[in-house]
Amino acid sequence: MSKLIVDALSVRYPGETKPAVENVSFSLEKGTVTVLLGPNGSGKSTLLKAILNLVDHTGTVQFFGKSFMQATGTIGYVPQQYAVDKTVPTTVHELVSLSLVMCKHSAKEKKQMITEALQKVDLREKEQEKVADLSGGQLQRVLLARALVHRPGVLLLDEPEAGVDVGGEQRFYSVLKKLAQDEGVTVIIASHEVALVKSFADQVICINKQLICSGPPRKVLHEDTFKKLYGEEVMFYGHTGHSHAFDAQGKRE
Ligand code: ADP
Ligand code: MG
Repeated sequence: MSKLIVDALSVRYPGETKPAVENVSFSLEKGTVTVLLGPNGSGKSTLLKAILNLVDHTGTVQFFGKSFMQATGTIGYVPQQYAVDKTVPTTVHELVSLSLVMCKHSAKEKKQMITEALQKVDLREKEQEKVADLSGGQLQRVLLARALVHRPGVLLLDEPEAGVDVGGEQRFYSVLKKLAQDEGVTVIIASHEVALVKSFADQVICINKQLICSGPPRKVLHEDTFKKLYGEEVMFYGHTGHSHAFDAQGKRE
């Protein structure tokens, strides 16, 4: 009961003949960081959405012994890409406060929750700054703070490294690792970047519609896996610390 268990999850979008995610099963320990790895179009976003009950699916997800309905208040989500309208003078505090609009807390409590969330992502000092003035990495951490404001036990992030420089990525992943280790948050990150996975992930789950393989990075991240994910023609430059993005047909982006 102490695991997050995904069992035989499948998603077929209306009107489509083939499933976007097919019969995927895995389980995660509490307080770990898991990277969901796969090329573009491999079903990563769809799988996260199914876990979040945002798309119709078959199969089940158990959150440490609880159903989605029982666990719903404890699940945080950072969706794929977020465009900021630079002409709107929203502050960091205001952006984070949006996720508290529907909550019953007092104004004082809300203020405290926002400050606490910004502290967790190392952005306390930016609270009154305009969102438009942030770097890509800082914006990503503000969006993380917005998910953390409810103190989730499970955190799902969809390609959070998009638009973030390498230093920013490293910092972002460090914050996630700390959340998992210090606060027992179970983190799942969908990504097609291989570079940072090795040092930050406890577990890697490779999918290409179906489950390709799963396990600790050292066991999973080898040439055979990349061939299965990206096709025979792929060269893996893992030793340089750089990775490349491919689409589901194995073509370089
Ligand atoms: P990834 O996040 O790995 O890039 P997605 O989960 O976005 O993959 O997409 C998986 C497959 O499902 C793709 O073939 C995509 O075109 C398809 N797909 C995604 N969203 C929809 C949708 N709303 N309706 C129909 N097909 C979709
Ligand atoms: Mg996606």
